[in-house]
Amino acid sequence: MEKVIILGTGCAGLTAAIYSARANLAPLVFEGREPGGQLSTTTLVENFPGFKEGIMGPELIMNMKAQAERFGARFQYADCTGLRTAADHVSIEVEKKWIDTRTLIVASGASAKWLGLDRERELIGHGLTSCATCDGAFYRNVPVCVVGGGDSACEEANFLTRFASKVYLIHRRDHLRASKIMAERTLANPKVEPVWNSAIEQYLTDADGEMRAVKLKDLKTGAARELEVKCVFVAIGHTPNTAAFKGLLTMDENGYLLQQGGITATNLPGVFAAGDVADHRYRQAITAAGQGCAAALDAERHLADLGVE
Ligand code: NAP
Repeated sequence: MEKVIILGTGCAGLTAAIYSARANLAPLVFEGREPGGQLSTTTLVENFPGFKEGIMGPELIMNMKAQAERFGARFQYADCTGLRTAADHVSIEVEKKWIDTRTLIVASGASAKWLGLDRERELIGHGLTSCATCDGAFYRNVPVCVVGGGDSACEEANFLTRFASKVYLIHRRDHLRASKIMAERTLANPKVEPVWNSAIEQYLTDADGEMRAVKLKDLKTGAARELEVKCVFVAIGHTPNTAAFKGLLTMDENGYLLQQGGITATNLPGVFAAGDVADHRYRQAITAAGQGCAAALDAERHLADLGVE
């Protein structure tokens, strides 16, 4: 019987791990399919308090993990695929085995959304990606495009101008939803060319199956055209990683976990939710970290109520 299991190693999961490890609860932390969460695929984080010159996302995550390990958190690379409940504990399914725990902190984050076009899955890694930090450097001196109009799309577009000859920013509206400073910085970048009121209808590949262009539709006129790009960076938001909990944990219509009673509790006793998996409003590293802390404290109180030392 574990005392605390934490799902996810983004800012929320790792902060929960630091707090529960320092409370001598030796949390067992599962890394899931995207270890480190969204910060591990970002570049400079300039808004995490305490780093006046900013800190690289992966470095921040590595530091948090080392900090949690120092106090006794245990880490395993595996995905949770199921959840079931009992009177005074819950069980999670990991690699076809069930593990019992008194408390569970779900900090499984949110994953990138895709456009839902033909052959999309098979093209990932062949000129289609959702991570400029991971793949941008492969596309030097060639044209690429970013899809989306939010802060992520702007961040990706700006970053890609370090490598690409041209970055088309394809957006379905005629204005960006990104924060003012991000939008202005992006549109002022001479390498970024916005393509307004447009959607990608089809990915076009070369003889080797690599991206060579996209078929674009002008949403105002209906006109179609080809735009030559060697890579498409999709930055249209995220979906919470809650599939394993459907029917058991209460969620909103988009699958985000619902917290209850003004704390990080879910509808199941002993199960807490923290970070982007339960937050589509703020979605910041620092708010996720704050929720991770709160979830660890809520779990600790639940253990005390159960009389578990
Ligand atoms: P977002 O703000 O939800 O923006 C998603 C963008 O993608 C929107 O412009 C949306 O269009 C577009 N979109 C959605 N579905 C689409 C589809 N099927 N086809 C074409 N376009 C589609 O998501 P985000 O940019 O990932 O940002 C999420 C949160 O993280 C925000 O709160 C943001 O401020 C924050 N963030 C902050 C930073 C930073 O501060 N450095 C960096 C990244 C993200 P519409 O505009 O038409 O809805």
